[in-house]
Amino acid sequence: MKKLVPDVICESVFAIDLDKLKKKRILGLLVDIDNTLVPWGKPEIEEAFVAWVKRVKEEGFKICLVSNAKKERAQKIATSLGIPAVGLALKPLGRSFRRGMSLLNLAPDEVAVVGDQLFTDVLGGNRLGIHTILINPISKNELDTTKWMRRLEHRILETMVKRGLISAQHAKIRQGRD
Ligand SMILES: [Mg+2]
Repeated sequence: MKKLVPDVICESVFAIDLDKLKKKRILGLLVDIDNTLVPWGKPEIEEAFVAWVKRVKEEGFKICLVSNAKKERAQKIATSLGIPAVGLALKPLGRSFRRGMSLLNLAPDEVAVVGDQLFTDVLGGNRLGIHTILINPISKNELDTTKWMRRLEHRILETMVKRGLISAQHAKIRQGRD
């Protein structure tokens, strides 16, 4: 259970407090694609998310996409953003996160994982001791298996609140949209 607890829960990538990350000496972000930067099933990244990536870079962070999407798709989006990508990541396996860190030339305590799923993004990041940021999925439109996973995530978050692992307020950010 502890490996599933995110360090931070945010409404969306736009709500991530970059100053706080700087204070934690975090220098890079490993960011999920589907339902974190791009609505599920959509081929293109929207302008607001392009602008967010640009701002993150301007703030001095390095950024790499780490996605379970096909390599080609991950690479295409990354190229349009001028950042590296690790596609077909098989998260929560650690290999892709390690690859992402090596592309950014950063250590686990210098990066944060940003993603919308407990069992891939958060679990994978926590296993490597990386700071994990869980955000709400952009779109409710998902694969049936993911929808099933959402219900499970929901119950796990409730249990985390009961055990005092996260605050009810934090859990609410996430559950408000699921
Ligand atoms: Mg995702």
